[in-house]
Amino acid sequence: MSAMVGDCDVAVIGAGVVGLACAYELAGLGLRVTVFDRGEAGSGASRQAAGMLAPASEAEAEDQALVALAVESCKRYPGWVAELEHTSQTRCGYRTEGSLLVALHRSHLEEIDRLAQIQTRLGLATTALTRDEMLARESNLSPRVIGGLFAPEDRQINPRWLTIALQTALCSVGGTIDCHADVAPSLQAGRVAGVEGRAGAEDVHVRAEVVVLAGGAWSGSAWPETAGSLPLRPVKGQILRLRGAALIDHVVRTPDIYLVPREDGELVVGATSEEQGFDPATTAGAVMDLLRHAWLAVPGVAELELAETGVGFRPALRDNLPAIGPTGIEGLYAATGHYRHGVMLAPITGMLIAEMVRGGPTPALLKPFDPRRFGQPAVATGVVP
Ligand SMILES: Cc1cc2nc3c(=O)[nH]c(=O)nc-3n(C[C@H](O)[C@H](O)[C@H](O)COP(=O)(O)OP(=O)(O)OC[C@H]3O[C@@H](n4cnc5c(N)ncnc54)[C@H](O)[C@@H]3O)c2cc1C
Repeated sequence: MSAMVGDCDVAVIGAGVVGLACAYELAGLGLRVTVFDRGEAGSGASRQAAGMLAPASEAEAEDQALVALAVESCKRYPGWVAELEHTSQTRCGYRTEGSLLVALHRSHLEEIDRLAQIQTRLGLATTALTRDEMLARESNLSPRVIGGLFAPEDRQINPRWLTIALQTALCSVGGTIDCHADVAPSLQAGRVAGVEGRAGAEDVHVRAEVVVLAGGAWSGSAWPETAGSLPLRPVKGQILRLRGAALIDHVVRTPDIYLVPREDGELVVGATSEEQGFDPATTAGAVMDLLRHAWLAVPGVAELELAETGVGFRPALRDNLPAIGPTGIEGLYAATGHYRHGVMLAPITGMLIAEMVRGGPTPALLKPFDPRRFGQPAVATGVVP
C-alpha cells in the first residue's frame, strides 16, 4: 500500500476560512505549513456563510468577551483583506455600507429597541432611523417598514472569494494544501508528533512540531481523548442565493431574516438555525419561510432567480463561544467552535494563533476562549450515580 509521508513545521487540519487564516499567518512567519482537508478546501460552513462582519447586529448574545474579540477582528479586516487581495490578486468582495436593522411591525421594533440597549451597553455604534430615513437609504424596502437602526460599522465580505484568496495567498507564501486527506493528530510520548490518516487509498503520516485543529463542526472526530472534553455540535443553517437586479446596497436585517447583497448581483438570504445534527436536507418549509420573510422586507425579491439553496453546519461549543489556543496536549492548538462568527473572527484567530505558536503567551483577549475550559475527561470511579 502506498503512503503519503513527509514533514512540515505546522500541520493545519481543515481548510475552511479559520484553518486557512491560521495557515496563512503561520506561513507568513516563515514556517513550513501544510493544510489538510478531507474534502475540497472551503467546502464546509465557510462555503455557505453569508459573510456578515457585524459585531453590532450580532450583539444579542451580549457576551462582552466575544464582542471585544469581534471588534478587534473587524478592526484588522481592512488591512488583512488589502494584503490578501494584493498577494493573491483575487478580490474578496469586502463592503462597507453597514447594516440596516429593519422593523416591519411593533414586535420587531421592540426587539430592535432591546438590541439597541445592548449595543449601547457594549459601546457599539448604531443610529435610530425613522421610516422615512430607512426608505431614503433603501428605496426597495417594503413600504410597511416602521423604523429601525443603522449600524454604520458593520461590514460584509464574500466568504467564497475570501477562501479562494486565502488559498492562493497561502500557496504564494510557501504553504501547501492537501485535499481529500482525512487526518487526525498523531501523538508520541504525550505530545503532538504530526498528523496521520487516509488520503484515498494512501495512508498519511506527516511529522509536524505543531498541529492546529480547525476542522469546523467535524473537529470532534479528530480531537484526541487525552486533550479533554470538546462538547461540539453542528448547528444546521439553510440559506438561499438569489440572482438578478441589485435591490439593496446595505445588509438588511429584520429579527426574522437577513439579506446580504453582493457586488456580482447575488443576494444571500439567510438563515435557519436548527439543532438537527448533520442532516444535509434542504426543506421546503425552510425555503418557504426564508423567501416569505425576505419578500416581506424587500418585495422585489419575488422577481429574482432562486439560484441556489445551501446547507451549512456551524461549529458550536456548549457555551457557543470559540475555542482558540493551546490544548492540554503540547504542540496541539485548537481553532474551532466559531459558531455563527467564523468569517468575522478569521483574521484575529489566525493572527493570535500565529503569535502563540511563535512562543508568545496566550493573549488576554483569548482567555475566555481557552479550549481547556470544558475540563479533562471523566475518570471512571466505580461509583454509579
Ligand atoms: C448558513 C450560515 C451562515 C453563516 N453566516 C455567517 C456570517 O454571516 N458571518 C460569519 O462570521 N459567520 C457566518 N457563519 C458561520 C461560519 O460559516 C463558520 O463559523 C465558519 O465558516 C467556520 O469556519 P471553519 O473553518 O471553522 O469551518 P468549515 O468552513 O466548516 O471548515 C472546516 C473544514 O475542515 C475539514 N475537516 C474537518 N475534519 C477534518 C479532518 N479530520 N481531516 C481533514 N479535514 C477535516 C472539513 O472538510 C472542512 O472543509 C455562517 C454559517 C452558516 C452555516
